[in-house]
Amino acid sequence: MLPPGHVAGGFLAGYALLKVTKPELAPAEYNQLLFWAMFFGFAPDIDNFFAFAKVKSWWYKQGMDNTIHRRFFTHFPILWMLAGLAVYFFAQSEYYKYFGLIIWVASWSHFLLDSISAYGIEWLWPFSKKVCALKNSGVKSEIVAESFVEYWWKFTKKYLAKPEFYIEVLLILTAIIIYFRI
Ligand SMILES: [Zn+2]
Repeated sequence: MLPPGHVAGGFLAGYALLKVTKPELAPAEYNQLLFWAMFFGFAPDIDNFFAFAKVKSWWYKQGMDNTIHRRFFTHFPILWMLAGLAVYFFAQSEYYKYFGLIIWVASWSHFLLDSISAYGIEWLWPFSKKVCALKNSGVKSEIVAESFVEYWWKFTKKYLAKPEFYIEVLLILTAIIIYFRI
């Protein structure tokens, strides 16, 4: 899934959490938490930058491993859960307690969405390195190209044909509708 889908997913997860638990927060705090939810919905993918730095390219050529980014520590769900819970337990105010919960819930929306797309997530790390996905767990995408434009052109064509793309569009539209209603 691409960044806009993850941002929308984080927003929806944060919105659902606040809607269901109804914390006593000022409207500005509520909005800040939704902003953080969008950030943490995307945050695990910052490892993409490390991955591109490691292969020293902005696209993948023949023989390169294009899954390394999913195996960085930012894609290990338990770390985000522990970070969120730590903030929650040490927080002195309702706002920071919710900030902790947002870290957990929004980052996990990311992992759920990554689990419906091809490669999957190491949900059980550090107990197991097994990659879990709805289908095709651990199957690598086979796009390789000789240039930046060729790679991303092939990527886009392939991506538009996936169900993941339609889920992403649906998430973004739902997030926009909710955003303008609150
Ligand atoms: Zn990801």
